[in-house]
Amino acid sequence: MRKTRADHSHGKPSPGDPPRFLDRAALADRQLAALRRLLDAVVGPNPFWTEKFAAAGLTAADIRTLADLPRLPFTTKTQVAADQAAKPPYGTNLTFPLKRYVRMHQTSGTTGQGMRWLDTPESWDWFVGCWSTIYDVVALKPDDRLYFAFSFGPFIGFWAAFEGAQRRGNFCLAGGGLSSSARLRAMLDNRATALLCTPTYALHLAETAQRESLDLRRSAVRMLIVAGEPGGSVPGVRARLEAAFDARVFDHTGMTETGPLGIECVEAPGCVHLLESEAIVELVDPSADTLLFSPGVPGRDTAPDPIEGELVLTNLGRLGSPLLRYRTGDVVRLRTGRCACGRSLVQMVGGILGRCDDMIIVRGNNVYPAAIDSIVREFDSIAEYRIILDTRAGLTDVTLEIEPVAGAAGAASALADRVAETIKSRLFFHAHVRVAPSGSLPRFEMKARRIVRAPPV
Ligand SMILES: [Zn+2]
Repeated sequence: MRKTRADHSHGKPSPGDPPRFLDRAALADRQLAALRRLLDAVVGPNPFWTEKFAAAGLTAADIRTLADLPRLPFTTKTQVAADQAAKPPYGTNLTFPLKRYVRMHQTSGTTGQGMRWLDTPESWDWFVGCWSTIYDVVALKPDDRLYFAFSFGPFIGFWAAFEGAQRRGNFCLAGGGLSSSARLRAMLDNRATALLCTPTYALHLAETAQRESLDLRRSAVRMLIVAGEPGGSVPGVRARLEAAFDARVFDHTGMTETGPLGIECVEAPGCVHLLESEAIVELVDPSADTLLFSPGVPGRDTAPDPIEGELVLTNLGRLGSPLLRYRTGDVVRLRTGRCACGRSLVQMVGGILGRCDDMIIVRGNNVYPAAIDSIVREFDSIAEYRIILDTRAGLTDVTLEIEPVAGAAGAASALADRVAETIKSRLFFHAHVRVAPSGSLPRFEMKARRIVRAPPV
């Protein structure tokens, strides 16, 4: 017997109903009002944005319409990280005195230090509120019971998802600090209907269940909301998860620094809506810096056919530490036009397609090759190395080939173990480390290319 899937009548307007969702003109009005509020709050009190506006020769009053927004230059992750490094521990993107902030979350270490992000009660309230919209888009029902297979550590992850569901009156169960077996039992014993975790971890739970002869298809789980890596929109991964759980997979996209702003539509599988009620979405050509999409900019405010580019976000409700025109580094294909669900929010067709920079996402962690490089360089007995990325299964597997210096080959296997352990403890993922014969790896004189992608089978 198949279980009840997501209620597909939810969200679809019936003929004669008043429109339930804002059209694009109404969305733009809402965005402009929120943007004006944001600028009045931050330009002046917030040193980061005050300086940014001054450097651009702008005042808050110069941004009178959405079409004026592109007068403000983009902000990059590098600029934010540099600001935090120059003014530790939190940088200068703070609108209020430090004592007003009640939460800190941080991104995983990339090239060393991760980014720290502070929230005031009001900013966090906005963050949690975004999740309420997310639950609307996936048609969460009042009697859905949510299980969070998440560590509840410093990563922002599903913290706000938990609070958002609880605020709606749903049963919420935290699965931090448990083994996979214990999580499975908790999920089944409590008749959870929704599972929230990374796609990799959902696959792992499915494998564990199979080993323990637990039939997840007969469980109450009817939906998975997965985030942290692109697997939720990767067809092979979705198919495996949907088959293993007999449940619908929803891809959720969000960032510590911008908020939880993307969720796949219940009516349009493969299309991830961006919450334009809470953020202004723009698209830029990453190579030429040409603006491809920006609401309010004539000729750039519509995308009936999907346009590919780098996603740029301005979050409108996180006044304590907002981001304006933030280049996310995510490559997406954006489309406007009313969705099957009735919403006019833009859609990312196929979710996040990749990264503009060289960041690798491994098991939900953002990893920069430079971080692996710096670890390898700590081992004097490694002469050369290369990183092999295998994404054939839809998720990234990392193999590190190390070539010992001449004379060190005898202790090579212990060396490989030590490198693997160091990567695990510092970068939080498991890399397969194998030893390459002496002299076998390519050497580089100029800019090294030490990352190779596994060839298709
Ligand atoms: Zn939709």
